[in-house]
Amino acid sequence: MTAQMTAQILTAAPAVSASRVSAGAQTAAMSGLKFNLHIIETCNYSCRHCFAHFGSRRVLRFDHWKKIVDNCLRLAPDASFNIAGGEPLMHPDFTAIAAYIHDQGRPVSVISNGYRMTQDWIRRHAPLLSCIGLSIDSMEEDTLRRIGRCVRSGKLLDAARLREVLDTVKAVNSLCAIKINTVVSALNKHENMARDIVKMPVSRWKIFKMNLFRNGAFSNEDIVVSHQEYRDYAERNTGIRLTDREADLSVRVRISPDCEAVLESDLNGAYLMIDARGYLVDNTMNDNYVAVADAAGKDLAAGLARLNFNAELYQSRYSA
Ligand code: SF4
Repeated sequence: MTAQMTAQILTAAPAVSASRVSAGAQTAAMSGLKFNLHIIETCNYSCRHCFAHFGSRRVLRFDHWKKIVDNCLRLAPDASFNIAGGEPLMHPDFTAIAAYIHDQGRPVSVISNGYRMTQDWIRRHAPLLSCIGLSIDSMEEDTLRRIGRCVRSGKLLDAARLREVLDTVKAVNSLCAIKINTVVSALNKHENMARDIVKMPVSRWKIFKMNLFRNGAFSNEDIVVSHQEYRDYAERNTGIRLTDREADLSVRVRISPDCEAVLESDLNGAYLMIDARGYLVDNTMNDNYVAVADAAGKDLAAGLARLNFNAELYQSRYSA
C-alpha cells in the first residue's frame, strides 16, 4: 500500500502563532509533561545538522540523573521521559537510568541512531522501554554519509540492519512502539522515504524541518532548507497537498493503516530539554540554548515558569 493511497490529515494544531503561556498557566499545564534527558553530548556519528552541542563533554553519572528524575517527578508525578544525546547508548549508566525511570512506574523511551543496538542490547532493554526512536534521515547510503550519519570509518546502520533491529524489538516487546525521526535538510530534501517507512513496523514517523543552529565554531547554516523546500518534502512523502495554513502547523497525517507521519516545522518552545550538563534549557533564543535552571536543584519549578514555552504547540505534539 502506498503512502498516497491512504494518507489523510488527522490533526493540524497551531505551531508558530500560539501565544506564550504565563507562569500560572504553566503550572496548571504541568501534567502529561515529557522531559527529554540529553544524558551525553558524545556521539559516534557526526551529523551536519546535529543540535546536540551543549559545550560540555563532562558525563554526569547515574546519581545525578536520578536526582533530576526525582525532581521532575516531584513537580509532575505523571511525567514521562525520553532519553537522548548525543548517542545515549554511549552513556555508561544508560541502563541504570532507564531502569530507574521504569521502576518508578513512568514511561521511558530512547532516541538513538541505532548503530549500537545489537540483538543482545535489544533483548535486555526493549522490555524497559515504551518506545524506541531511531534517527534515520535517508534510505540512501551516500546521502547518509554526506549528512555524517555514519561512524568515522564510514560504516552505518544500513537498511538490512535497520530492519533486523526493528523486527527484534517487536519480537522482544510487541508493546514497545517504534518511531523514526527524520530531519529534512538541503542534503536529503529530494528524497521519498515514505515508500520504505510504510513497509516497516513503525507507528510514528516524525519529519522535522532542520533548525538553524550556531554554537561557537559549529553552524549548519549552509544546509538549511527553506519553508517551501520542507513543504515539498512533506507533501511528497505524505501524499497530502497542504494548504498554506497547514504548512505552518504541527500536522499529523496517516500514511498507512499502522503508521502516522507527524510534520514538525518548528520545535522551538515545544520541547522540554535537559542538557548533558543537567540544565533545563530554552531553545527559543539566539539560535542556541540558554540554561534556565539546574534540573537537579530547587529552582526547577521556577525555571519551568521562566521557560519560553508554547503550551498549545506542546499539547499538540504530545497528544495522541
Ligand atoms: S546521531 Fe544524533 S546526536 Fe549523533 S551526531 Fe547525529 S544528530 Fe547528533
